[in-house]
Parts: sequence; C-alpha cells; structure tokens
Amino acid sequence: TIPDLRDPVRQALRSVLEVARPHADGELASYIPELTHADPEALGAALVSIRGTVHEVGDSESTFTIQSVSKPFVFALALEQSGLTEVIRHVGVEPSGEPFNAISLEAASGRPLNPMINAGAIVMSSLIAGDTAEEKFAEIHAGLNAFAARELDLDESVFESEHATGDRNRALAYLTQAAGTLGSTAEVATGAYFRQCSVAVNARDLAIMAATLANGGTNPVSGERVIREDVARWTTAVMTSCGMYDASGDWLVHVGLPAKSGVGGGIVAIQPEQFGIGTFSPRLDERGNSVRGIVVLRTLSERYGLHMLQHR
Ligand code: GLN
Repeated sequence: TIPDLRDPVRQALRSVLEVARPHADGELASYIPELTHADPEALGAALVSIRGTVHEVGDSESTFTIQSVSKPFVFALALEQSGLTEVIRHVGVEPSGEPFNAISLEAASGRPLNPMINAGAIVMSSLIAGDTAEEKFAEIHAGLNAFAARELDLDESVFESEHATGDRNRALAYLTQAAGTLGSTAEVATGAYFRQCSVAVNARDLAIMAATLANGGTNPVSGERVIREDVARWTTAVMTSCGMYDASGDWLVHVGLPAKSGVGGGIVAIQPEQFGIGTFSPRLDERGNSVRGIVVLRTLSERYGLHMLQHR
C-alpha cells in the first residue's frame, strides 16, 4: 500500500490494525444477550491528540455500547461533584485482582475495592446527583456527552437486556446498600448504572473521551473544561492500577498505558499530556477484555515506545 504521507499517525494505526486482525479468538459477551448481535469481525481504532487532531482507521464509526469503559468517566464525575474525601469514603482505590463482577467488598469498611469493577462502579453511579435513576442518568449522560463532545444515544435494547439479566449487579448493589456505602437505594443505583453501560459510542468517541483525560480534563475537540485537573489525574491513576481488572498488572508491564476496557468490545488508553486512544473489536478474552484491542494497544506501545515508564 502507498504510505499515507499526510497522516503518518493514521498510517501507523492502519498497520497495527492489520497486525491485530488475524487474532480471531475470543467470544462475544453473551451474559447480556443483546451483546451477541455485534458483528464479531468489526475492528476500529482512533487516536486524538491533546490538540484535538483526530486520526481514525477501520470501523472507527461503528457503534457499540460503552459498558465498563464508562466507569472511569463516571468516577471522574463523582469526584467532580463530591470531592476525593467523600468519594473515598464509599470506594477504595486498590486493585482487586478479581474479575469485573466479583463480590469485592473490604470487610471492615464495606467499600468495594475500586471504582473500575462493577461493585465500585455501581456505588459511583449512586453518588451522582439526582433522586431517581432517570435523574442520575441525566447527569451521567450530560457528563459523558461533554467527554465525547457530542450527544450520545442510549441503546434501548441493550438497556432492556441488561435490566432483564442484571441480577448479579443488583446483588452487588444490595450488598453495598447493606454495608452503608451506597449513596441511594439499590434499585436507583442499578437503574442509573444499567443505562450508563448502554450508552452507544464509537472508537472515535472513546478516543476523544480519553484525550480529555490526557489533556487534564479539558476536551481538546470542544474546548470545554469537563473536569478539574486533579480529578483527571486521580482518575488516570486508578485506571493505571485497576483498569484491566485481573489483567491490570500484566497490562502495566506489557502496554504501560492507563486504560479501561468494556464487554461491548471497547478499550480506552491514555498517554497523559499526549493523546487518547479508543479501540473497538467485540470478541473478548476470558477476562472480558477485547482480544484485538489488546493486540492493537500492545503493538502500538511496543513499536512506538509508548510505555509510561519508557526511558526517554
Ligand atoms: N454492564 C456490564 C455489567 O455490569 C459491564 C461490565 C463490563 O463491561 N466489564 O456486567
């Protein structure tokens, strides 16, 4: 192929996408039945610089649900609304080393171990302003829109599917309610959380959202300050230690970029003060992380020396 001399970043992304494409292993998430309707072959990526330049390749405009990639952004919104001291009363910041849906509560305090696993994320949704699930979701939705610099849709059929099959998440919510760490009733918290997970995005949206964190909280595309700089730093820190569930340590060694995955097939990754990346490919490994998304990010990191601890 002819090199894309006008956009070498796009050229680099395109080449890395072709490294990832043959990795056809993994399975679509099926515990939320609606997610099995995704095109298993879809593969896209985007990179957005802190100057707001967008580079995108493959199926970067295909939509999928944000799922757990929403967690760092809602954690950031909770921090912005309530401050670190209050948020930390409700959730820890320690890696759990456990799967995303683990029953993971500290014995003494009743806090979920961190906000990147379901138990902690549901508690974060419960802390967002609003009395009902609809009111809390309206706040969350406005925040996610600000991170993405556009109005995002709610995928109603995924929402209904999550709502119909979300008993494990309800159980986590009730456990935190019993422990006194939930900020609302379990019903309100899960109602907001199921909607939040069902927001439809594409890889470009994720890259813009990630670039907003990389840029210290100001969206480089819209110019809007979405969160304070310290909130962006705390959020990125927790993504570094907890973003890839029980693969977080492995990820830190091999990729070395703060990241967050979701069972819709999306991953965001950040190089602070440089850029945000969004990837999409729906087949997941046994930990619920996108197989090809991992290859894209690992290859980019290795080829271009992106590891955060790389000696420069
Ligand atoms: N909505 C999903 C759940 O709660 C999100 C999980 C994920 O993306 N890892 O199970």
